Amino acid sequence: MSNAENTESIFTQGDKAPADYFMGNAWIKKLVASDPVFNTQIGNVVFEPGARNNWHTHPGGQILIITDGTGYYQEKGKAAQIIRKGDVITIAPDVVHWHGATANSSMTHIAVNTNTQKGIVDWLEPVTDDQYKSIQ
Ligand code: MN
Repeated sequence: MSNAENTESIFTQGDKAPADYFMGNAWIKKLVASDPVFNTQIGNVVFEPGARNNWHTHPGGQILIITDGTGYYQEKGKAAQIIRKGDVITIAPDVVHWHGATANSSMTHIAVNTNTQKGIVDWLEPVTDDQYKSIQ
C-alpha cells in the first residue's frame, strides 16, 4: 500500500457543519440515519485545525471513535483531554461536553449517537476563544 493510499479519507467530506453550533470549519458526512429499529445515528465528522462544537449534551448518550488526527474532548468542570486516532470516548447521557480539533491538527471521528428515541443533541453555548486557548 502506498503512502498516498494510507492518507486517504474513508468517507467523503459531507456537508459543512452548521455555524450556529460549530466554531471554525467542520464537515459532517451522515452514515446511518436513526430509525425505530436501531435508535442509532452515525456520522463522520472532520474538524479542521481550531474547529470545535459548542458545549452540548446527548439525551441518549454518544460514542466517539477517533479515526484521524489529534483533538480535544472536555466535560464541564473537568480538564480537557487530548484525543487521538484510535481513541474511543463514551459519553453518558446528559453530560455537558464539547469536542474538536487542536489548534494545529485536524481531528476526525465517527460519532455514534445512541438511544436516539430519547433525543440526539441539545446545543448550549459556544466554547469561547479564551476557553479554547487556555487549554493549549
Ligand atoms: Mn458530543
